[in-house]
Amino acid sequence: MTARVLVVDDVPANVKLLEARLSAEYFDVITAMNGEEALAICDRGECDLVLLDAMMPVINGFETCRRLKTNPATHHIPVVMVTALDQPADRVRGLEAGADDFLTKPICDFALIARVRSLARLKMVTDELRMRAVTSRDIGIESPERETIADAGRGGRVLIVDDRASSHERIAAVLADEHDVEVEANPNQALFRAADGNYDLVIISLGLENFDALRLCSQIRSLERTRNTPILAVTEPDDTARMVRGLEIGVNDYLMRPIDKNELLARARTQVRRRRYTERLRDSVQMSIEMAITDALTGLFNRRYMESHLATLIDQAKSRGKPLTALVLDIDYFKAINDSHGHDAGDDVLREFALRIRRSIRGIDLACRYGGEEFVIVMPETDMAVAAMVAERLRRRIAADPFAIQQGARSIPVTISIGIAGVRGREDSAAALLKRADQALYRAKRDGRNRVVPDAA
Ligand code: GH3
Ligand code: MG
Ligand code: MG
Repeated sequence: MTARVLVVDDVPANVKLLEARLSAEYFDVITAMNGEEALAICDRGECDLVLLDAMMPVINGFETCRRLKTNPATHHIPVVMVTALDQPADRVRGLEAGADDFLTKPICDFALIARVRSLARLKMVTDELRMRAVTSRDIGIESPERETIADAGRGGRVLIVDDRASSHERIAAVLADEHDVEVEANPNQALFRAADGNYDLVIISLGLENFDALRLCSQIRSLERTRNTPILAVTEPDDTARMVRGLEIGVNDYLMRPIDKNELLARARTQVRRRRYTERLRDSVQMSIEMAITDALTGLFNRRYMESHLATLIDQAKSRGKPLTALVLDIDYFKAINDSHGHDAGDDVLREFALRIRRSIRGIDLACRYGGEEFVIVMPETDMAVAAMVAERLRRRIAADPFAIQQGARSIPVTISIGIAGVRGREDSAAALLKRADQALYRAKRDGRNRVVPDAA
């Protein structure tokens, strides 16, 4: 993994030092001497992670971080603030500006590399999702980026795993102001609890009495239901080795005792926000997959999906020696419906027609909108005689009940014509099958419409 790290510092010697350390670990390093330069580089999407000096002239690190984290184009880039000051108040100031972590000069090499690796890994996951997610413009919903920037990271479901009452009581009391908090004092139960609770954050004390807390972290990471749940580890002071190990196995963030109340709150908020962001991205990816195969007006499959899937279904039917039939359906005089009642009424008819199709077919049948007012239903394991019965039943259901238009203010009669064809022999293809069904449909139209015509074998 060669992540590209942007090092930002106004003191050239500091830049050189960090550059050397990161290059030695095979990170690709680019540098900037001030906030403006850093913002421009990030805006162009040229880095995966930013190491940001807090004290810089003109735009200081806190402000640079705040701007990165409130810009939809850059908010997902992890930022680690680097500072000479080590007061909890400074850390909190950085975290509240949206920083993902805070390192204090002189920087411990172990902590630096472990942190950069873990954040770079996280960035790769997010990038993958971002690439596959649809843009908000395509689907007319709020973008995951904008929603996340507006999200304060409160109201999360948080599970605390800690067997010392004095410790978990304190942590729970702090977090209860902002989150829905539960405590699991028995580490043996923690994995099940985490898997069942759909938590936005699990906080684990690394100092559990008779239990290997790092093992618990790794189990949470590998379990399907919890692999995306953020883990915040609470470590004993100066236990850098365990902290580094934790980051390696997938702990998202850590907090050292004695716990600073505001730092705990800030880190919890960051994790909750990030969890919700990746969930939004995942939903968006799911939606983009659905959009690629469905017709927006009717919710049926679209033509592209049907055409790619039909070939597979035909191959299956041939190899198993089973019949397969296709119906091509077309609404009669649909142009006249548009002309007399308007295009919206035409759309209402198309939606209602799709609904009636869906109610008339089995789960294994494939219904799609082929174009305009033409639909295709593919029926595996169905011969011509059964297909003709299904088609006739559907034709009657359409003709028998008028279609509501104009929000139910009126209803109009609608009829359809249907052509049927079945797979014939080993040489038959999807294109040939649809063509025969279409020719049968043409005869149905020519013979007076509102009828079902099978392909004359
Ligand atoms: P026939 O009985 O021969 O099928 O006549 P028809 O009028 O149904 O067929 P034609 O192919 O002449 O007209 C189809 C019309 O469907 C023309 C087109 O404007 C309309 N149409 C296509 N897509 C849509 C749509 O998404 N919404 C609406 N409202 N109309 C559509
Ligand atoms: Mg028509
Ligand atoms: Mg037509």
